Amino acid sequence: MKAQPTASHFIDGAYVEDAAGERIEVIFPATGEVIAVLHAATPALIDRALASAARAQADWATWRPVDRARILRRAADMIRDRNPELARLETLDTGKPLQETLVADWPSGADAIEYFAGLAPTVVGETIPLGRDFVYTLREPLGVCVGIGAWNYPSQIACWKSAPALALGNAMVFKPSEVTPLGALKLAEIFIEAGLPAGLFNVVQGRGPVGAALATDARVAKVSLTGSVPTGRKVYAAAAAGVRHVTMELGGKSPLIVFDDASVEDAVGAAMLGNFYSAGQVCSNGTRVFVQKGIKDRFLAALKVRSEKIVLGDPLDAATQMGPLVSAAQLDKVMSYIDIARTEGATLITGGGRGTVHDGYFVQPTVFADVTDDMTLAREEVFGPVMAVLDFEDEAEVIARANDTEFGLAAGVFTADLARAHRVVGQLQAGTTWINAYNLTPVEAPFGGVKQSGVGRENGHAAVQHYTQVKSVYVGMGPVDAPY
Ligand code: NAD
Repeated sequence: MKAQPTASHFIDGAYVEDAAGERIEVIFPATGEVIAVLHAATPALIDRALASAARAQADWATWRPVDRARILRRAADMIRDRNPELARLETLDTGKPLQETLVADWPSGADAIEYFAGLAPTVVGETIPLGRDFVYTLREPLGVCVGIGAWNYPSQIACWKSAPALALGNAMVFKPSEVTPLGALKLAEIFIEAGLPAGLFNVVQGRGPVGAALATDARVAKVSLTGSVPTGRKVYAAAAAGVRHVTMELGGKSPLIVFDDASVEDAVGAAMLGNFYSAGQVCSNGTRVFVQKGIKDRFLAALKVRSEKIVLGDPLDAATQMGPLVSAAQLDKVMSYIDIARTEGATLITGGGRGTVHDGYFVQPTVFADVTDDMTLAREEVFGPVMAVLDFEDEAEVIARANDTEFGLAAGVFTADLARAHRVVGQLQAGTTWINAYNLTPVEAPFGGVKQSGVGRENGHAAVQHYTQVKSVYVGMGPVDAPY
């Protein structure tokens, strides 16, 4: 088998197998070939992972932040050195083309590890004078954190969650998506080679029930999930029962608004990036593209020409620009949304069919125009290369329509009028927004959603408050003034 790991899980510094766990086949989405067979974690393994994390964390919390940081920086360097081999594994696991995995997935993960290594030693408390007495605050780690990942950016997600957790003195037990379980195991190996004490980053495999067992365990202080809104509701509720901290990175149906003074070529490029990158399987995608009526025809003409040039094919081929969807289930889901869009009366501009280059789960880059706000395509997250173009007349109208959704992950505005850009962005209900750009998510910038799209933020200084808690220390400097 092409990508069989040493064992399914990585616990307390070593690979671990327990064949009693449910069988999980890992499939290369470009061909349907089984590339690895893993087993879900049994309750005994889940217990071992949490116990070793708790033990390791108690010591890790006492380390000087610079000493923790040195290990993490080494891990980031190792990821960069091994990027070609890691990118190939990510491509096998997800089906995303090497053109993407070489530059986007592990490199962004390495950035996060390096960033939080640098940030951790600068995290300090405050001193609050009270006359003679005073209070000082300590920013303490939370303890054992659980990370649960989605399948679209599996290794990046593992890095984005573990980097702040570990840098700030926590341990993490990470459960990758059962669809893409391989990258997180490599991260666990790299951390150990970089010198991270055993038990601080454990990986356990499994489907929803394994995630649920982790999220409800009494030893767990925090749960960070990247996944869909329905899963987010369940995990948030499970965490709430134990009054645990949460970060919820959930789905979206984000608006990308193009005013008629925008550069058409730039706006088309951004709309394509925001709908076709990773075959459309990106949470923050701008899947409702609102185009002002004055440039609609020019926009659609340019979009059609450029979309039809996208090279679909074997994701391991360096020339391929778009690979397959991650699974047969995702292919069926996306094709059914395309059928619904046709039935509901949207105009197909290009695509609409399965890619024919391979036996894998390919879908052509697809654009529908004349989409209206009530159509299913404008309301539900598709998670495939399917762009909906909607018309609009003026600013107030488009802002109201852009906000008319339960989601609030991201939004973008294209215009040459910068005062308008800032005015519009100020009114959009979204956690992450772009002006004359789309889908750039540097680790320095906080990322996350509002409304149903999530709670908390990953990356940037904002993540510090989600992986630490404040302790206030009151210091009495004089005699105790008791009334008794
Ligand atoms: P999903 O919700 O099906 O699964 C996410 C993870 O949750 C998986 O590991 C799954 O095994 C686990 N899980 C499922 N049920 C669970 C339960 N009851 N308790 C605990 N864990 C459980 O999502 P997916 O299909 O893997 O990923 C696609 C979704 O993720 C999309 O909706 C996308 O928008 C979202 N996403 C969000 C972000 C973000 O940062 N906001 C990033 C990437 C993906």
